[in-house]
Amino acid sequence: MGLLGKGLLDGMVVTARNFVGSYFDKERLTTVQYPEERIKLPENSRSFPFLVYDKDSDPIATMRCVACKICEIECPPQCIYIVMDRNEAGKPNQRPKVFDIDISVCMQCQICVEVCPFEAIKMDTDYEKAKFGRFDDLVEHLDDLLKSNEYYHSIHPTEAAAVDAKLEAEAKKKAAKKAPAPAAKPAEAKAAAPAAAAPKAAIAIPADAPFTAEQREWLTKNLPAIVGAPATGAAPAAAPAEGAPAEAAPAATDDPWHDPGLSLPERMKLAEGKSLAEKLFAAMAQTDCHACGYDCKGYAEAIASGAEPDISLCVPGAAETEAELKKLTGK
Ligand code: SF4
Ligand code: SF4
Repeated sequence: MGLLGKGLLDGMVVTARNFVGSYFDKERLTTVQYPEERIKLPENSRSFPFLVYDKDSDPIATMRCVACKICEIECPPQCIYIVMDRNEAGKPNQRPKVFDIDISVCMQCQICVEVCPFEAIKMDTDYEKAKFGRFDDLVEHLDDLLKSNEYYHSIHPTEAAAVDAKLEAEAKKKAAKKAPAPAAKPAEAKAAAPAAAAPKAAIAIPADAPFTAEQREWLTKNLPAIVGAPATGAAPAAAPAEGAPAEAAPAATDDPWHDPGLSLPERMKLAEGKSLAEKLFAAMAQTDCHACGYDCKGYAEAIASGAEPDISLCVPGAAETEAELKKLTGK
């Protein structure tokens, strides 16, 4: 009992010292006059997620999110809802039209941030989310979620600087890949000249290629100018009967299954009769999110060639894609 009384007295002395000291030293204040005064939050504090955009002049066009839905799939309480934005032709714009987060359900775990391959979603520090309504008021929409990269820097400066450096390095790497090979030095060019001057192998137009006689004649005449090689083997297909309508040139396929809005059965139907690599491509989620380390086509080609043995890497396609890949590869 005696000990308890001493502890109580010690505590009161500390309180009294802070009470008096706080009139002279602001640091001794343990409370602030909220909401007029606010304590600056530590850099690693977090509340709810927000979406990063790069330019104030056009937040929608410069948002980093590509609507790949990985965060929607991985969010443990399933509080994210995303709908892809599409152009008039129905093609995906690779950004969300709808991006909702139900903050009454969000458990602030940050898993959405960890899984996003595009540094598009980050944790905010804003904790003032109290609302009067219990339903739609607690759902944050795209407009509420979009915040600038400057804002991200203001709340998590160290992390934001590291992200900027990473994105810059990735952009440089991409640009270097796209850049044409440097011109050969004059001496090297001279040495290489005879090889360059050598005629290219002739291009044969197969007899069963689906061209009309007219198209075949045009190709035979113009191919050399287009590709720099003579066209040969132009065994003419049977000429159409006089007066018969000219056949239409075959339409370019343009990977019609490459649309994340199509269901897996729809995509597989479009890839019927195609090569294994194309069927594997159609089985992917078509978001080009790079969670697998490739774009969708690259991952399919890597599996088809045997360079990539793991068929479970398509995160947005999840179990459905993996099952289809298993069926196609027999793995
Ligand atoms: S994982 Fe990133 S890019 Fe994909 S939908 Fe979520 S925020 Fe957007
Ligand atoms: S913080 Fe966790 S619970 Fe909240 S949206 Fe992200 S993944 Fe879901």
